[in-house]
Amino acid sequence: MDESICPGCATSLPSSQLLYEGYFNTTPECWSLFTEVQGKQYGNVLLGRYTLQSTVDAYAAQHAGASHPDKSVAIHLLGLYLVIVQDVDPLEVAPKQQHIASGRATWPELTRPANQGVLTILDVAMSDDDDYIETVDTWAREVWAMWADHHQTIAELL
Ligand SMILES: [Zn+2]
Repeated sequence: MDESICPGCATSLPSSQLLYEGYFNTTPECWSLFTEVQGKQYGNVLLGRYTLQSTVDAYAAQHAGASHPDKSVAIHLLGLYLVIVQDVDPLEVAPKQQHIASGRATWPELTRPANQGVLTILDVAMSDDDDYIETVDTWAREVWAMWADHHQTIAELL
């Protein structure tokens, strides 16, 4: 079977006829898995409460590079920073991101780290409800850690 390897997170998935026309540095198959995961999170109020924000931010930050704009990468890294470092409630993150996003004209150049991280959206998709929230949290922390060279830059966006 043909495999499609994601340039963002290195996940290998069976090739498909799917299309992806967004700007994330991903494959149609990896993106499809992401939307599946989001569907599950939207369908479960409790899981979604604790995982939707970090899932979007971790996925975006792990899929930087290629045509993914610095502004998007920065805003999603900011989301990880707020939850992981500043302990902000995930439900309060999106308004802060929007506020910062609309208040700046220029964005720092964020070169994608060589390290792609260990956990991916596939680990989230495969995790049981019992450790689902923890898996998302661990993944988000790993993605944040792989951007260590830019932590100061992100903190300064606030
Ligand atoms: Zn991927």
